[in-house]
Amino acid sequence: MRSPILDYLDEIIEKTAEVTGGAPADYIPELAAADPDRVAIAMCTVSGTVYAVGDAEDLFTIQSMSKPFAYGLAIEQRGLDEVLEHVGVEPSGDAFNELSLDPENGRPLNPMINAGAITTHSLMCTTDPVDRLLTLIGAMVERPVEVDEKVAASEQSEASRNLGLAYLLDAQGVLASPPQDAVSGYIRQCSTSVTVRDLALMAATLANGGVQPNTGERVLGRRTTRQVLSVMASCGMYDAAGDWFTAVGIPAKSGVAGGIIGVLPGQVGLAVFSPRLDAHGNSARGVKMMELLSEDMDLHLMDPG
Ligand code: GLN
Repeated sequence: MRSPILDYLDEIIEKTAEVTGGAPADYIPELAAADPDRVAIAMCTVSGTVYAVGDAEDLFTIQSMSKPFAYGLAIEQRGLDEVLEHVGVEPSGDAFNELSLDPENGRPLNPMINAGAITTHSLMCTTDPVDRLLTLIGAMVERPVEVDEKVAASEQSEASRNLGLAYLLDAQGVLASPPQDAVSGYIRQCSTSVTVRDLALMAATLANGGVQPNTGERVLGRRTTRQVLSVMASCGMYDAAGDWFTAVGIPAKSGVAGGIIGVLPGQVGLAVFSPRLDAHGNSARGVKMMELLSEDMDLHLMDPG
């Protein structure tokens, strides 16, 4: 028998059908070509049960939803103190592609904006950082994942802004690899191909303190996972972080291909997908879907329960 939870998730898709504002990201040519009407939701409990509806098997690129996981790997690789010397944890209040640096020490303000994520990428490990991240993601989603080379090449062809950020970061002395390498690796990291079902498993692994719910494998340390989730809560939705946290109330991260992951620690991982973006670069329908899910299922962390 079909689970009533799937019927409920279908209802969320129907209820948000009127949210047609926004547009797919156009600064990466390959993303601009995406079918804007694709839509999907997936949810995974900390016991590993996945519920997925809509275009749940469609592949799209992870984009900035890779940033929390890369941050986790950098912490595991270098230790938190060293990572904090390179990247801060303060919300910037600026758009994701701004050069938001701490005026006191010249570090990027946080690892969720591009400047911080390019720095984090350079800290992940000395050789093959992208492979290392693909292995981590593969362990979370229980299948091998790959880079979408077409999207990576497309972003690489329009990378002036991220290269500009990287050269400035290098001049500040915060990058741990040459700027061109940090940007080309970061772009490949962002081009990892995933489904909404994969993202729900990744979110559930964070919800479960860094342990993959089905395999029982610890993929990130408990303290690392807490750090990652804390930064997602304060900075994950960029300059919409305050709106997001008051309305939805869970740590989250969006990506410019239209995905959003949300994590209720100890309970559930959520993922939504719809390519049209709002002015902050977050999926417009995705935000609405998450608001309804949070409301209906009482997910907001500031509710007494
Ligand atoms: N790869 C994208 C970029 O650097 C990621 C941005 C995002 O998803 N917000 O512009």
